[in-house]
Amino acid sequence: MGISGDQISVRDAPYKIKKAGCVSMSEKKIAVIGGGLAGCEAALQVANRGYPITLYEMRPKVSTAAHSTDQLAELVCSNSFGSFSDHTAPWILKRELKELNSQLLALSERCAVPAGRSLAIDRNLFAEAATEKVSSHPLIHLAREEAKAIPEDGITILATGPLTSESLARSLASVLGQESLYFYDAISPIVSTDSLDFDKMFCQSRYDKGDPDFWNIPLDREAYDRFIKQLLTGDVVLPHNFEKAKYFEGCMPIEAIAERGPQTLAFGPMKPVGLTDPKTGRRPYAVIQLRAENRDRTAYNLVGFQTKLKYPEQERIFRNLPGLENAEFLRLGSMHRNTYIDSPRHLLPTLQLRARPSILLGGQITGTEGYVESIATGLIAGLNATRLMSGQAPTFPPLETMIGALLGTISDPQRKDFQPTNSNMGLFPALPPLPKGKRSKPERNEALSERARLGFSNWWEKITQETCTRLEPPLDGSQNLAVPLTIHSCPPPSHSDPSAG
Ligand SMILES: Cc1cc2nc3c(=O)[nH]c(=O)nc-3n(C[C@H](O)[C@H](O)[C@H](O)COP(=O)(O)OP(=O)(O)OC[C@H]3O[C@@H](n4cnc5c(N)ncnc54)[C@H](O)[C@@H]3O)c2cc1C
Repeated sequence: MGISGDQISVRDAPYKIKKAGCVSMSEKKIAVIGGGLAGCEAALQVANRGYPITLYEMRPKVSTAAHSTDQLAELVCSNSFGSFSDHTAPWILKRELKELNSQLLALSERCAVPAGRSLAIDRNLFAEAATEKVSSHPLIHLAREEAKAIPEDGITILATGPLTSESLARSLASVLGQESLYFYDAISPIVSTDSLDFDKMFCQSRYDKGDPDFWNIPLDREAYDRFIKQLLTGDVVLPHNFEKAKYFEGCMPIEAIAERGPQTLAFGPMKPVGLTDPKTGRRPYAVIQLRAENRDRTAYNLVGFQTKLKYPEQERIFRNLPGLENAEFLRLGSMHRNTYIDSPRHLLPTLQLRARPSILLGGQITGTEGYVESIATGLIAGLNATRLMSGQAPTFPPLETMIGALLGTISDPQRKDFQPTNSNMGLFPALPPLPKGKRSKPERNEALSERARLGFSNWWEKITQETCTRLEPPLDGSQNLAVPLTIHSCPPPSHSDPSAG
């Protein structure tokens, strides 16, 4: 078994991952557990590189609360693979997957249905095509059975998704510790720094403890009452049958807290204690707190604002708050039944478990959200499983790429209060500020997209060259880390971020 990766952070990964990623050359079998989006992509990547693999899928023998067929890669809800508009996060993610020769993305394009600037697919055609491709592959053995425990030997890719079976979840908890496995997610909205009006907020931590890390939106009684009224009348997403009444006290949706009484939020996530508005010299009636979402402060999280309000309702209601009038929402709030791990503590950016590097994770269980994100993490897990088999060090794209930013975010050990994340522009490290003026939103997105394109193609070119020139595994068993991991070091916060001053 390899050396523990406990101490590795994203930023020093290039220097240390070489050791942590090691698995013994005797671990020659690869198994994928879970035949969803991540598991199918991982299995095809492994098999197409010439390694035999067993893929375990428990359906139809054991079903989940959301799947309804026996097909692999079944989409359980919407049929959208996200935007095709240039330089958006889903577009950049798909561009990178195409470069990586994603098998499921190629199938999805063959099964596309008209949907404007989005990639929407015929879910039945897609699942049938994926099932056929996987089950007819000569190197893939499809075992239609539930894996009740993580295998003790070999290389395992765990891709059992948000509805991982109970016995396997227990097995994973025994590796990570019960407190590191979550069964419900509570996601609050994230807004882009550029789009906020900080003149209407003040920067302070409660009781002035520590650095002033929070931006606070102060509300007077009238504004608070107006906000509560809007929350209580907003349209919410109805839970699936298996999701009902499962909220934990500590992470209730804000509208459900408001239903308990008009003042409840003012004593909960909107409590003003320990805060003084410098404009009035008084404690506000209530506050909304914003906490930096990344080290470069290009995005802020609305603290404690997990919600089941419908997306357009969230945008409408939250934009009525002072300072958020023009907010660009990089992610909207949600709450789901979801099995995922405390990735910042347990996962390397290569998707290996720090404690057992021969176990890789793919899909939603890694703490990423979304169909295409699941395909992406499945692909990287598959790629790294084959690199481990051939004695090469596992790898991941640089942080300025969309896949690299996702992997860096979920595996950053400095991240507290981890919430699952989709691909969004707020995950990218900040761009260097312009000498004069400020980029418009389209200019910023294009610059981030272009930087991602360059970073990705440099990385991938080196990886493919390395693979081509590598005919034999090293005789001494040493790892060859010929991977140009461009780890981003923090530039100064952009001009638009007032916390810079
Ligand atoms: C109700 C619901 C609605 C969602 N809606 C959307 C949406 O609209 N858009 C979106 O982008 N994302 C949505 N998601 C998230 C979505 O599930 C993921 O984006 C994606 O499907 C996850 O891919 P995955 O491969 O990780 O998991 P899945 O696609 O769920 O695949 C996991 C597979 O593992 C199998 N499995 C589980 N345990 C075992 C075991 N012990 N042994 C063998 N097999 C096992 C399951 O049967 C399943 O086939 C939704 C999730 C849920 C639960």
